Amino acid sequence: MKTLMYHYVRKSQKKFPFFRYLEVENFCKQLEYFQKEFGFVSFDDFMELCENVKYFEKIRGKVLLTFDDGFKDHYDFVLPELLKRGLFACFFVSTGVYERHKALDVHRIHHLLGLTGGGELMPQVYKILDKSMLESQEIDKFTGKIYTQQDNDTSTLEFKKLFNYFIKYEFREYLLDELVKVFSSDEEIFNGLYMNEEELCTLVDEGMIVGSHSKSHFVFSKLGEKEQSLEIKDSFDFLEKLLGRLKVKIFCYPYGGFHTFTAFTERFLSEFGVTFSFNVQSKDTSLLDLQNRPQALPRYDCNEFAFGKSN
Ligand SMILES: [Zn+2]
Repeated sequence: MKTLMYHYVRKSQKKFPFFRYLEVENFCKQLEYFQKEFGFVSFDDFMELCENVKYFEKIRGKVLLTFDDGFKDHYDFVLPELLKRGLFACFFVSTGVYERHKALDVHRIHHLLGLTGGGELMPQVYKILDKSMLESQEIDKFTGKIYTQQDNDTSTLEFKKLFNYFIKYEFREYLLDELVKVFSSDEEIFNGLYMNEEELCTLVDEGMIVGSHSKSHFVFSKLGEKEQSLEIKDSFDFLEKLLGRLKVKIFCYPYGGFHTFTAFTERFLSEFGVTFSFNVQSKDTSLLDLQNRPQALPRYDCNEFAFGKSN
């Protein structure tokens, strides 16, 4: 079984000249390619598999579709294409955004970069950035440079490095708050980016499965055991309150590499009654994976297959 992972799937928007996403047209081509080559895991197949992993033999070569982060893209563009073709998919949502009504920082970074590109962002960053906000070992790399003279790609790279690695974690949200005020607004980003609660309910009504992508989208291996359990528990509580009793509990790890969770995470998920959890790893799922590591199932990025590259 091949499990595929998707993030942004959308049509080109003039407003976001720099945004990276999978074009809907290519998404459709990829679906057609998978249909021809492998076929898809249906809702009934997936439920059978959850009941008994031996069912795997019947869907050994097929493709399971999964979509991360609860983007509105998935409602606007993905769902109609799935329904048109009678296909099933799993959608993973970070539930904390519905309480804080503000996009996750990682998505605010994508949004700002998509909107303006790094060329316009970096000068603004330097208006508000103070040396004390940087990890001390990185300060030298960020003093005395003239960012306005860099091309857009270089500035974009700088912006990403700065926010992903160099800025102390406790200042990141504040800095993004300030940048969002200059270029957009949190309300606009939140409403434009994620499915609303009603749309999540519609997904389930249409035969899809909505699973947890944690509450706050933190790297689990950096959290303590108490925090990890709360991230999982709170997130499923939210989903059950919204969607009613879940037919099956599934989970996918934020960021998703093998280093992003621990043996405790896997144990807790199993004890909590989660049937399967997904990470990111380029390989097919085997029966042994399902039997031995049900909380660490591999997923391919869609860009590893024909038509899956981002624009
Ligand atoms: Zn994610």
